Amino acid sequence: MYRERIPGGSRSEVTAVDRKHRINDSLEKHPERPSPSTSRADVKEKSVHSVLLGKAPSDHRDSGRHKNNCSEESETDTEESDVSGSEGDDTYWISWFCNLRGNEFFCEVDDDYIQDDFNLCGLSSQVPYYDYALDLILDVESSHADMLTEEQNELVESAAEMLYGLIHSRYLLTSKGMAAMLEKYKNIDFGRCPRVYCCGQPCLPVGQSDIPRASTVKIYCPRCKDIYYPRSKYQGKTDGAYFGTTFPHLFLMTYGHLKPQNTSQSYVPRVFGFKIHKN
Ligand SMILES: [Zn+2]
Repeated sequence: MYRERIPGGSRSEVTAVDRKHRINDSLEKHPERPSPSTSRADVKEKSVHSVLLGKAPSDHRDSGRHKNNCSEESETDTEESDVSGSEGDDTYWISWFCNLRGNEFFCEVDDDYIQDDFNLCGLSSQVPYYDYALDLILDVESSHADMLTEEQNELVESAAEMLYGLIHSRYLLTSKGMAAMLEKYKNIDFGRCPRVYCCGQPCLPVGQSDIPRASTVKIYCPRCKDIYYPRSKYQGKTDGAYFGTTFPHLFLMTYGHLKPQNTSQSYVPRVFGFKIHKN
């Protein structure tokens, strides 16, 4: 289970359970209410499902999360009222998501940024269950989540991940996003260059494409200017489009003082101490 080592994980789980209850509650309150979105959702479901299934990490994580919810639901039931009364930052969906194993590269996007429609322009056509996913990310009590089935709820959670990732890639290019990533860079959250002559140079996340599901995230070394696979297999499953092709380069233009000296040393292959002939 990915969430085992997360500090305060149980509190976050309560939030997830809480949210599930909210959805279930509203389902019970309005069982007969016709929802115009339901039929549309049903039609969409099959194609959406196949799209989302292509994204192995989210499915894996989600199933883990659901398993957790199911097994711990009864335990957390009694604490629920206490926790919802003292809601801390770590109980929000964004914090929960960024603290999942494998999501260490993500920074927390400001609520203000997400709430500004201008910043989300064009995303509604890219992300299935857009409205539901947005409500989930912002921890908004959804007015239209009342008719969703369990399976549809899972799809909404996958869609929320995708939506957050796409918002994240835009946010990184703002001054606030850069500042958030600067902190993570200083903490070496993105890992170090594996190349010996880069001497442990801290790296930055980068995508090879800005189109979702084209490739997974890589790390860019500012010293040798090359890209590598992240060390963690969990991080290696993250979509590169959630970081984009521009971020590390704009970051180093913004914080020019962080640009390391070019490496002059390079490895020379030798046989019995002699350099190998070029041919
Ligand atoms: Zn390097």
